[in-house]
Amino acid sequence: MSRFTLPRDVYYGKDSLEVLKTIKGKKAIVVVGGGSMKRFGFLDKVTSYLKEAGIEVSLFENVEPDPSVETVMRGAKAMQEFEPDLIVAMGGGSPIDAAKAMWTFYEYPETSFEDLITPFSFPELRQKAKFIAIPSTSGTATEVTAFAVITDYEKGIKYPLADFNITPDIAIVDPTLAETMPAKLTAHTGMDALTHAIEAYVSTLHSPFTDPLALQAIEMVLDYLPGSYSGNMEARDQMHLAQCLAGMAFSNALLGIVHSLAHKTGAAFSTGHIPHGCANAIYLPYVIKFNAKDKEAKSRYAEIARRMGLDGTSEDALINSLCRKIDSFNQHMNIPKTLQEFGINEDEFKEKVATIAANAVADACTGSNPRQLTPAEMERLLTAIYYGKEIDF
Ligand code: FE
Repeated sequence: MSRFTLPRDVYYGKDSLEVLKTIKGKKAIVVVGGGSMKRFGFLDKVTSYLKEAGIEVSLFENVEPDPSVETVMRGAKAMQEFEPDLIVAMGGGSPIDAAKAMWTFYEYPETSFEDLITPFSFPELRQKAKFIAIPSTSGTATEVTAFAVITDYEKGIKYPLADFNITPDIAIVDPTLAETMPAKLTAHTGMDALTHAIEAYVSTLHSPFTDPLALQAIEMVLDYLPGSYSGNMEARDQMHLAQCLAGMAFSNALLGIVHSLAHKTGAAFSTGHIPHGCANAIYLPYVIKFNAKDKEAKSRYAEIARRMGLDGTSEDALINSLCRKIDSFNQHMNIPKTLQEFGINEDEFKEKVATIAANAVADACTGSNPRQLTPAEMERLLTAIYYGKEIDF
């Protein structure tokens, strides 16, 4: 038996935020990040709309990027004291992810993170509250997904929580919020969305429900990301919808080894964090060439290229066109082509590559990748990405 799960309602389009005026509920806790939502006036709008709906509002502010276990526990405690029947999470991926975990510990205070690590093992949520997610960036699509990433800084572990219980009840995809993104964030989050859609399309768990969402998302990203990056707000608005479609696809079809590598390299080097979407953008063409050695994956990548109207009559030619398209996007948005070019120190890379490769093989996203691989093959792939070598294995 398979399952396909999405939020009950998705409100979208300019000023869809106003739907909050009509939401039913008694008490809402609003979970937000570091201040951009407040600065741009969106937090005020959300609180005043909720009050207009007759709902008492409490704020939980300053969720940090890559939210910690401590923040989650503080938020859960605030919820236990305030007893909301609505959780409204707003901002980039971090506050929404944190709020998903807070929600779980609010409803089940006796649970521990260790209990939640096993994918799809959550207790039944919605005993105390419903969850509304309002994204301000156009990439993670956490407003429609069954995932949340929480970091245990003490143990140096990232907990990728996965369960359809944490798929929000309501997503409000109001592009006005994403219009405030700076260009670099627009580039990285946009390439993250493209990676979600492509990985979901070739995933071993892809289905007739996820395929159309993935293809539509790819088409929209190819059409609108360049414009969105250069500040065209109509293109920016379309990207906000495109990333949401990609999220609907990958929440149900899962991802692949572009994400496995991005997860395990993101914080691995002393030269600095590799932003998630930037890492995906760099790795994607290499992984396409590696996965295309699998016959079924090859025909699915070629199908993407064909549907997008890219050049080529053979599958190989079509896949080359797809990779060239991704390369041209990266080049246009100043995303490097290799990890060396990104600035990772060569000695440090050599020292760490074997461990990172082994960790990437063990990542939760590897299981649904169309081609399985050994740690030695992952090391070869990562080395090719570091130096910009051809993938011929
Ligand atoms: Fe991602």
